[in-house]
Amino acid sequence: MKQSTLPIWQRVALVFLIETALFASSATAQECIGTQKSKIYHTQPLECGSAKRIQGDNRVVFKDAKEAERAGRRKCKRCAQLDAMEDKDDANQEQRPLMGGGRPATGRNTNGRHEEVLPPPTDVSPDRGLPRLVRIKKIMPAGTLELESGTRVCFDGVIVPNENQPHALDARDAIQQESQGRLMRMVQDSHRGVPAGRDSLGRWRVRLAADDGGRDLAGELVYAGYAWLDRSRWTTRWDELSRLEENAWRAGRGIWQQLDGPAGQMKVVTGRGAHAYHEARCDHVKLLTEPREMELNEARARRLVPCEHFRAKAIKRQQVKK
Ligand SMILES: [Zn+2]
Ligand SMILES: [Zn+2]
Repeated sequence: MKQSTLPIWQRVALVFLIETALFASSATAQECIGTQKSKIYHTQPLECGSAKRIQGDNRVVFKDAKEAERAGRRKCKRCAQLDAMEDKDDANQEQRPLMGGGRPATGRNTNGRHEEVLPPPTDVSPDRGLPRLVRIKKIMPAGTLELESGTRVCFDGVIVPNENQPHALDARDAIQQESQGRLMRMVQDSHRGVPAGRDSLGRWRVRLAADDGGRDLAGELVYAGYAWLDRSRWTTRWDELSRLEENAWRAGRGIWQQLDGPAGQMKVVTGRGAHAYHEARCDHVKLLTEPREMELNEARARRLVPCEHFRAKAIKRQQVKK
């Protein structure tokens, strides 16, 4: 999918979500800086690249984030992510979310800064068509599931890391843990009565949850940081999955983790209003508006996602190493 064809409303929705997420983080009593003219303030003057470049007379100092916000400024995205990482370090190491219905009602951080009420447990809902009871026979790469009947299905609305990609095994384990030996309830998602149908690989797009009170599996994967919201296609679950992804992103779980060393410093390219990042040589780059290079860690911090070519190349790179 070409970046330039992403509908404007999706771009707007995404930017809105990100902005909302950043506004929601509460202010702390640390000195903040900004430039004379911008509407941004930085909470991490020693860490944030943009903040470090603010020189001399151009620098404005605020007593704390509250003061900066009263002045009509909003927090720099990179700084927000750095703040979130600090919080994560402060709090005890987070437990891996339970896939079997153990998700707590609020965030786990002890200092309360990420405290928020999570969406109610999601479930496959019978009003979207009669659920069928199935068993998963085989868990295949990239979230492809083969049912006992031989039918292949995938999770509607999310992208699961492909084989050999980081967290592909975590995703597989999570699916296995939740589905092994259990009867699963399966429904096809639909939008205004049109069923989600099959994807380009011929997989039926479905929702799945264990029949004995399990949670929606796609939502659990996204929440754990083992899958991305599929930004190329709107589904009725967009808002819900996006909220779960936001939670994983803010906590830096799984695919949202900051990487140490060269891996995190790898140069990627994104464009204004784009939701994905690309390798410098990706064909997508010439389609981007105002292409801009950044490090992979920054792209993750901005909640950007790898483009499909990037995901495919990640596989090749890893295979070469073996
Ligand atoms: Zn900053
Ligand atoms: Zn690309």
